[in-house]
Amino acid sequence: MKYLRLISIVCFSLLLVNGQTQTPKSHPCLILTKESAAKISSSIDNLPLLKKSFLKIKKTADNALSSKLDVPIPKDEGGGYTHERHKLNYSQMYACGIAYQITKDEKYAKFVKSMLLRYAEMIPNLGIHPASKSSSPGKLFWQSLNDCVWVVNSIQAYDCVYEWLDRKDRETIEKNVFIPMSDFFIVQTAKTFNLIHNHGTWTVTAVGMTGLVIGNDELVEKALKGSNLDSKGGYLAQINELFSPDGYYTEGPYYHRYALMPFILFAEALTHNKPELNIFAYKDSVLQKSANALFQLTYTDGRIIPFNDAIKDKNFLADEFVVAADFAYSFKGNRELLAIAAEQNSVSVDENGLRVAEALSKNQEQPFKWRSVEFTDGGDGKKGGIGILRSGERNDQLCMAFKYTSHGLSHGHYDKLTFSLFDNGVEVLQDYGSARFLNVEPKSGGRYLPENKSFALQTVAHNALVVDEKTDFNGKEEISSANHSDRYFFDCSNPQKQIVSAKENNAYVGVKMHRTIAMITLPNIEKPILIDILRANSETKHQYDLPFYFLGQFITTSFDFKNNTSQRKPLGRLNGYQHLWLEASGTTKQTQGKFTWLLNNRFYTITTAASDSTIFLFAQIGANDQNFNLKNDPCFIVRQKGSDNYTFISVIEPHGEYNGKDEITIGSDSIVKEIKNIASDGEKTIGEIILTSGQTVTICISNDNSDIKVKHSYKVNDKNYQWVGPYSIETIDNK
Ligand SMILES: [Zn+2]
Repeated sequence: MKYLRLISIVCFSLLLVNGQTQTPKSHPCLILTKESAAKISSSIDNLPLLKKSFLKIKKTADNALSSKLDVPIPKDEGGGYTHERHKLNYSQMYACGIAYQITKDEKYAKFVKSMLLRYAEMIPNLGIHPASKSSSPGKLFWQSLNDCVWVVNSIQAYDCVYEWLDRKDRETIEKNVFIPMSDFFIVQTAKTFNLIHNHGTWTVTAVGMTGLVIGNDELVEKALKGSNLDSKGGYLAQINELFSPDGYYTEGPYYHRYALMPFILFAEALTHNKPELNIFAYKDSVLQKSANALFQLTYTDGRIIPFNDAIKDKNFLADEFVVAADFAYSFKGNRELLAIAAEQNSVSVDENGLRVAEALSKNQEQPFKWRSVEFTDGGDGKKGGIGILRSGERNDQLCMAFKYTSHGLSHGHYDKLTFSLFDNGVEVLQDYGSARFLNVEPKSGGRYLPENKSFALQTVAHNALVVDEKTDFNGKEEISSANHSDRYFFDCSNPQKQIVSAKENNAYVGVKMHRTIAMITLPNIEKPILIDILRANSETKHQYDLPFYFLGQFITTSFDFKNNTSQRKPLGRLNGYQHLWLEASGTTKQTQGKFTWLLNNRFYTITTAASDSTIFLFAQIGANDQNFNLKNDPCFIVRQKGSDNYTFISVIEPHGEYNGKDEITIGSDSIVKEIKNIASDGEKTIGEIILTSGQTVTICISNDNSDIKVKHSYKVNDKNYQWVGPYSIETIDNK
């Protein structure tokens, strides 16, 4: 007996080493397992949300059964018929696979078989997709990424009907569909396969899941370690490098939710088939942390914070978020995620979804809380990060997200030290997101538009400092990717005085930037104010532009301006400036300039410290845009010309209310009377904000030491300023 066991262990390891076939014990074995399918079938009638979610899938399956099978020769790009048809086909197959497992009605299995056999006739004869302009072309779709998604779905369908199929059909399908697709990914799209990028994740997941189902361990090993098995690429390297230790995904929130889906799916499949890998615990359970982090990277309306390339309508009701919520809940039982699941009104039809549905049926959910939080970036957490400050409950939350990350791979924007502001349920100071109409065929086949590069990713398209009308790192991705901003400090321990600070030393040669943003709640003032301090430091003179992409309607300014009412010109020639119409410009004789706008029935004012050399510009997106690809949103720019060291000190305040129905306007005036730049040099920045209420807010920042214990003491204009740690914020009432 002992010998036998030893022999079997030896054989098992040999199999692994040689990458031989190792058929799973039973099917399905990927996301849904034989056991979980049985559990779901027996309990579904008592779990309303699970039942509802299943019935939705079943409806897709039933519709598939009653429609004509079509497996067209690939021809069209995104949004076109063949593109959409192959997408529909994989979702129909997936739905029928699940429906078969839960109902055991053979009609669903037959559908999967018929369709896969049609693909088996077509795929061996397919070359590269004819409409492909991608650097990584697919076979069924214009880019291989879609082919990977096709495999991830259809391999699950195949897995669901595997045991029902006869041996001959299985051979045909594996030989003519799944093996050629895996070969295509590993050999012909080898670069993508080994890429540390979301395309790479979808690719290795497609191949790895295929390996698990058809019992080909070589495919699984390559998926885990890269096609050369050198661990420079593959699933594990992707986890190591793409996620920071606290779960931030380096491409930003929009691609976070997209990439997380295959990460979760492959992790589930590995857990069911290779429990010895203990993949959920890998890198201190970073996948779980990441699923949790994803929800903190949304605003209270559920939409993702749109840093880097992002479609701004994407919210947490989308399928990827359902998978993420169920996965994250399943791990540690965070009951707040149940509230999200309830709102999603959907669960995944698998064991995670079953757990969520069970907990919801026992009313175990707790309200989800959006918290102030910092996420680091980089595999080791040392490549900057994102600091999010929040104040207020869900129905009216002020939320400021400050970005000081690394570049974010090919979807990154040149937006060093930018921030976005949300309030009252909407975006107030926006990040443009991406210039793209996803799946709208007349708009370049749904691909990224040329204006994504010429405008959306440029520095001037952000609420970020632009030096000499150039873009960070001169728009060179390679250089930007080799650098990152640095967190300086983050403190949200006092909800009344939250603050985050970061530095950027490489985006412009010879110019150092340091930005600090504080969210301060003042006594007797309804909404918190933001203090934004941006210090640019150089030995030579530059033009510093600080844009604020406000949304809403212009109301008033404290300064005079000239409006180009009959003729407009672009603000500049290059680096995104060519896409901005210069609408108006003005100057002031006061020590600050003020601009008020109205959005969603609330007023907002930016007050910024100024001198007679400050120029205020109003611009609108849309110049040099032949095909109307850009949204014509407005922008307010504070320009400081011929400056070496300059510190922008601004206050952004939400205030008052406009009620059109009752024709009532209250609190339309800003409460900021004066902003004083007391001192700003290499050691410290001291600013005073004098309010109409008689209060003065003094903010002090240590610019050269963020140690929380170090004491700072300065005498400026006969006044002593003393504090301990990297900053201090004090409010005194002068009345
Ligand atoms: Zn951006």
